[in-house]
Amino acid sequence: MMQQYWRIKAEYPDMLLFYRMGDFYELFHADAEKAARLLDITLTTRGASAGAPIKMAGVPYHAAEQYLAKLLKLGESVAICEQVGDPATSKGPVERKVARILTPGTVTDNALLDEKSSSLLLALAPHDKLIGLAWLDLASGRFTLLESVENRLAAELERLRPAEILLPEDFEHPALSSFKSASKRLPTWQFDLDANTQSLCRQFGMASLSGFGCDGLNSAVQAAGVLLEYAKNTQRAALPHISGLMVEHASSYVLMDAATRRNLEITETLRGESAPTLCSMLDSTASTMGSRLLRHWLHHPLRDRDALQQRLDAIGQMLEQTPTCDALHQLFKRCADVERIVSRVALRSARPRDLSGLRDSLALLPDLRHLLENCDSPRLATLTSFLLAPSDIIDLLLRSLKAEPASVLREGGVIADGFDADLDELRAIQNNCGEFLLALEARERERSGISTLKVEYNKVHGFYIEVSRAQSEKVPDDYRRRQTLKNAERYTTPELKAFEDKALSASERALAREKMLYEHLLDALAPHIGILQSIAAVMAELDVLTAMAERAVRLNLAAPVFTSEAVIDIRGGRHLVVEAQVDEFIANDVQLARTRQMLLITGPNMGGKSTYMRQTALIVLLAQCGLFVPAEAVRLGPIDQIFTRIGASDDLAGGRSTFMVEMTETANILHNATENSLVLLDEIGRGTSTFDGLALAYACARQLIEKNRSHTLFATHYFELTRLSQEYKQIANVHLDAVEHRDHIVFLHSVAEGPASQSYGLQVAQLAGVPAAVIQVAKKCLVQLENQNIERGGQGDLFAPSAEPEICFEVHPALDALRASSPDELSPKEALALLYELKEMAKDV
Ligand code: ADP
Repeated sequence: MMQQYWRIKAEYPDMLLFYRMGDFYELFHADAEKAARLLDITLTTRGASAGAPIKMAGVPYHAAEQYLAKLLKLGESVAICEQVGDPATSKGPVERKVARILTPGTVTDNALLDEKSSSLLLALAPHDKLIGLAWLDLASGRFTLLESVENRLAAELERLRPAEILLPEDFEHPALSSFKSASKRLPTWQFDLDANTQSLCRQFGMASLSGFGCDGLNSAVQAAGVLLEYAKNTQRAALPHISGLMVEHASSYVLMDAATRRNLEITETLRGESAPTLCSMLDSTASTMGSRLLRHWLHHPLRDRDALQQRLDAIGQMLEQTPTCDALHQLFKRCADVERIVSRVALRSARPRDLSGLRDSLALLPDLRHLLENCDSPRLATLTSFLLAPSDIIDLLLRSLKAEPASVLREGGVIADGFDADLDELRAIQNNCGEFLLALEARERERSGISTLKVEYNKVHGFYIEVSRAQSEKVPDDYRRRQTLKNAERYTTPELKAFEDKALSASERALAREKMLYEHLLDALAPHIGILQSIAAVMAELDVLTAMAERAVRLNLAAPVFTSEAVIDIRGGRHLVVEAQVDEFIANDVQLARTRQMLLITGPNMGGKSTYMRQTALIVLLAQCGLFVPAEAVRLGPIDQIFTRIGASDDLAGGRSTFMVEMTETANILHNATENSLVLLDEIGRGTSTFDGLALAYACARQLIEKNRSHTLFATHYFELTRLSQEYKQIANVHLDAVEHRDHIVFLHSVAEGPASQSYGLQVAQLAGVPAAVIQVAKKCLVQLENQNIERGGQGDLFAPSAEPEICFEVHPALDALRASSPDELSPKEALALLYELKEMAKDV
């Protein structure tokens, strides 16, 4: 048996091999040690192999799912090896085969999937400075590819959050080290362009991939081909529901880098929890499909304003029809996860309850259509037109399946009565056994005239007619003796024999027949996978739109208005998560335009600066998702990217300190932000010494104003920076204020024009519970420092550089030229020329 084990294990060296032995899956050697550690199960030893005891760990067959789910979550892959031979008849070890391969990115089993989020498999193929990405949600069949510049890899990983990554064995990238997901390194020859193009063409039945817009996207095509082969291999099946590719273009979306996605807590808090987040506040969808689509939308804000307007119009129309909205919501609650069911149908792994769920959900379509009849917004009309399932499919599902089929096919009880005459007869035999025998007994008593004749059954001899020895003379001619007892004779008749054959095999045959009919049912559904997929997508979208209309009312949201002017104009904006946590939320305005490009935000800690900045980004994000926003009114010009540099955290895994993280993120912003980008910068320069930090903050602000020209919110504690507004008319100061009331500090949370007057640091420290004695010492120290500063001619401003011009950060080019010159080597004429040159350079100082 160990030889068989090693033979199979050799094919799956980097997976845990679950080796079926009776009612257990056993793991051996290193696999056993690993599983014992990860699953907290007992490690035992048995026998010996090459002199050493064999390490073993096992999980019961019937409880395997929970262990598998845990392993997949930890990023492990598992090969499940089943017994395929019959233990009773086989000589030597029973024949075994790997029946399933489970990897984190290719699971489709409901029990192993998170119902609210997708589990993606991603492949990467680098080429020059580009990286081809291809990703597949096997549970829905969505297959997408993209070619990205190398330095956006971290952002893409954060957006897609793949469960598993495939990459060439020699590929290294810093983004991979800080991203924790299972990765598989594959030999580089598997990334061959021609072979992968051919395999994709075969999958889609096309001569070339041009139809998908893949021309020239070579590295993405390589990644897609590798991914498809890998997925097919794990499923050990063709994947008919993967019928096409979608090419994504970075320019279709409002881009966000990895840090921004995390900072904005879109679907996950900074601590990694799913609530409270933007998504948790908005997700009132009724179905899991809707919930997944909403998450997808929130992570994929669009640039195409027509598409956004269509979503907004659809929500607007739903809003006007509250009863319809409620009714739709109730219908979607009854809807199964059609999207995932359809893929399991395609993979032929659908269980009976999947099909009954599909049947019951498709039966809702006429009601859905009816409810949407009067909706004429273009998007709703388009969606409604897809809500037509082929009637023969619904009819077939209705006729073929029991109302409540058994959960597994193995034990039967799935196919409806009346669907198949043979199955009905086989079932009738099982059910009517008793009745048939009673009737036979009565008939035989009458025919033979033996009143004590009995028809009976035992395991060894099957069915028989028993007659007492005294009466045995009277039995009819067609009785065949089976057994002679002391006082009785046992017979059979041709009729009883025929019945026996039928009855004994009926249950087995009924099961086999049900299995066959079930396979036929899957065959019949196969050609309709495409239509069913689009019905699922439409149901998900309608669920989201309905939920968003409900949220708009409940959370008092408004439709944003798009304009071609370069503005972000928010009236009465709010932050949904903070609003839910405080008694009274103070709404605030934001006005940004070409003439008011940057807001420098000052104010005490806890004053509400971060909230104000984040709510601005979230409102812009929601608008770009085509959703209603938490504000009284919003006017929004074109937006291409959102950047945030908020909060501080070490990247210990990546070996970067807080300040290094801060500067890396800042560098990314300064390199990539455009005049259509929204940039939020919080406390730039705090991680280093005061003058360093101030200098950096100053330089970044100038760069953003002069070069990037982005819409910028810049929160700072460096009060000195507020003077920038005198230098640049595009910079406006705004502040959040607090008032001292007796010994307390009260934050006003409302944003007003102008710089803050005080920073209230000691008061906030007191509020935070810093001991009174420490606060007392700090107060004394502060008075001293302020006095010294005034004596030195400062303006009561602790860190202000003392003399004018206050900040001189740039070295003038004339100085550089002077330093670079070598007077000893110049001729008098050259020296004179240099002098003129220097004078020319210094002209505008
Ligand atoms: P800062 O960034 O200035 O330190 P935060 O934005 O983190 O301040 O806000 C601190 C707290 O103040 C929040 O957790 C919230 O409870 C409250 N807060 C902030 N903004 C508002 C607001 N507009 N209305 C009501 N409460 C607010």
